[in-house]
Amino acid sequence: MTTLNDEVQTRRTFAIISHPDAGKTTLTEKLLLFGGAIRDAGTVKARKTGKYATSDWMEIEKQRGISVTSSVMQFDYDDFRVNILDTPGHQDFSEDTYRTLMAVDSAVMIVDSAKGIEDQTIKLFKVCRMRGIPIFTFINKMDRQGKMPLELLAELEEVLGIETYPMNWPIGMGKEFVGVYDRFNNRIEQFKSDEKDRYLPLNDEGELAVDHELKDSPLYEQTLEEIMLLSEAGNQFSEENILAGTLSPVFFGSALTTFGVQTFLDAYLQFAPAPQSRNTTVGEIQPINEDFSGFIFKIQANMNPKHRDRIAFLRICSGKFERGMSVFLSRTGKPINLSSSTQFLADDRNTVNEAVSGDIIGLYDTGNYQIGDTITTSKEMYQFDRLPQFTPELFMRVTAKNVMKQKHFHKGINQLVQEGAIQLFKTIRMEEYLLGAVGQLQFEVFEHRMRNEYNVDVIMERMGSKITRWVEDEKIDENLHSTRSILVKDRYDKYAFLFENDFALRWFQDKNPDVKLYNPMDMS
Ligand code: GDP
Repeated sequence: MTTLNDEVQTRRTFAIISHPDAGKTTLTEKLLLFGGAIRDAGTVKARKTGKYATSDWMEIEKQRGISVTSSVMQFDYDDFRVNILDTPGHQDFSEDTYRTLMAVDSAVMIVDSAKGIEDQTIKLFKVCRMRGIPIFTFINKMDRQGKMPLELLAELEEVLGIETYPMNWPIGMGKEFVGVYDRFNNRIEQFKSDEKDRYLPLNDEGELAVDHELKDSPLYEQTLEEIMLLSEAGNQFSEENILAGTLSPVFFGSALTTFGVQTFLDAYLQFAPAPQSRNTTVGEIQPINEDFSGFIFKIQANMNPKHRDRIAFLRICSGKFERGMSVFLSRTGKPINLSSSTQFLADDRNTVNEAVSGDIIGLYDTGNYQIGDTITTSKEMYQFDRLPQFTPELFMRVTAKNVMKQKHFHKGINQLVQEGAIQLFKTIRMEEYLLGAVGQLQFEVFEHRMRNEYNVDVIMERMGSKITRWVEDEKIDENLHSTRSILVKDRYDKYAFLFENDFALRWFQDKNPDVKLYNPMDMS
């Protein structure tokens, strides 16, 4: 009989982080193909372009070519059940993107070999570091001419401040791409070759163990030199450091040609952690704890316009989910019956009957849930650590177009803020409403939902990007407010400053060394 522990040990739950166009969709699709979860490559892409979009607020998505329906995918491979969580890049980058990283146990970072580390990747990477979760790196598009591999490694280490260990190493690239020297599996994996002689074994000296024309190639010589350099001057392999998130195993490949994808997947599954314990108000909860528990990390409104329903995404943290089970919502103590739920096995949304720690399920929500809510069958009704507050970078001043609609306006804003769709601040004197977001799309979703769900047209006035810093003390001299350092209160009544730019921030700190400012996303 399989025990709960057996099942939990097979779970791997990760997010893919990358800059747009690095190849996330392509790699995801190839992974799903290995799992037999989809039949045709192109399915995920089709979702991305909106072919499967069904609801009306997805109009925005259709226009933008994004989709939320593919934000969680699941596949089975080699006795593992893998949950992939999408973290959108582009304009659809939002606080949701960050929160998704709270629900995973590891992350896969895709880097375009020609572009190196890009902006969006750095932001997401930081959140992974904050959580100390393992980060696996896939350097993609080796079939194209890109940066030199040593240069890419140096960039990873410098820009992201993480150590790297190349599990394999490219032999040539672009038109001359031969394949990879696989340090981990002690073999060379050839790019242009049929299944039969795709893999060439290496001997104890790390050289080709068989006669092969590759031996005469200058690229082979060069690779051996680079491998030597890596062995002498590079980092040591350390499973412990991988698990601590301080050493990233690096894989080279080409998602488009499915090269190196399976090698990557096999090693990923071997080293990525199964679901770990999580902290709560009553201490650590183990994933094999018999009591069922989980937390809501994302709420997706109006997937279906006919019902105006919402889907709450739940990360299971302990126990076993069973359809129709009764749980408590810890925030209110209210019992809830989990009769309508959905799972995300690739093609369509399936009804889930059973799921365990590590799995992500969708719960149909009629307004019960808030972001960060804990649900559990335990009578203790503990709560998981609060989801962190993310530092907004973009701001809008917002008012109701029609002053007669104030009541709806406030109700709408409050609900959307509670849902985590957007952050709300008030200026101290005028009590103006300012909306803060990490991505532009959050404003568009806000505007759209205010009109459609609360029947309120809003006027939004762009304030541009600001640097937000919270004030440590409860009190502050309100005269410190200026146009370049706007003093506001957040929804918990905590003071924060919105600085015009870096210069304004430094100037302020110089002038007011006693005011202690902090950024919740600066983790040390
Ligand atoms: P996403 O925005 O990160 O999801 O990126 P996509 O998966 O949509 O890929 C962006 C573009 O790069 C598409 O045109 C892909 O066909 C292409 N692409 C992805 N992987 C590779 C690869 O390994 N080699 C090459 N040459 N192109 C790739």
